[in-house]
Amino acid sequence: MSITLAFDIDTQRRSFIEGSIAFEASLLCQRCLGPTEPEPLSSEFLLGLVTNDALASQLPGEYEPVVVENEQLDLLSVIEDEVLLVLPQVVYHEEADCAVSRDQLASGVEPEASDAPAVNPFSVLGTLKDKH
Ligand SMILES: [Zn+2]
Repeated sequence: MSITLAFDIDTQRRSFIEGSIAFEASLLCQRCLGPTEPEPLSSEFLLGLVTNDALASQLPGEYEPVVVENEQLDLLSVIEDEVLLVLPQVVYHEEADCAVSRDQLASGVEPEASDAPAVNPFSVLGTLKDKH
């Protein structure tokens, strides 16, 4: 994952962070629950740092308000939020690549049982970790 963050102060003396994230994510197909091809995802954001909700509501629209308490900014959770925002909620394989075809879904027929063990999403995560 690549992350860039630039801290600055605007002409109104507001602290802000201009940032971008880019990463590849392999998600689980909601039809067959198999992993999809890794997909490049990226996001750019402009965060206005404020010390309370009242100031947050005064921020210009282009800023995404982040309330900083006790002058401690939890950057990791900020980045996690941005990652969650950019992740697609629901993904499917291309029909030709999916283990479950549309015909099977339409007719309500169970896909034929295969000898392959069911994919556990957590074991997929484990293999992803090993690669890095
Ligand atoms: Zn699929």
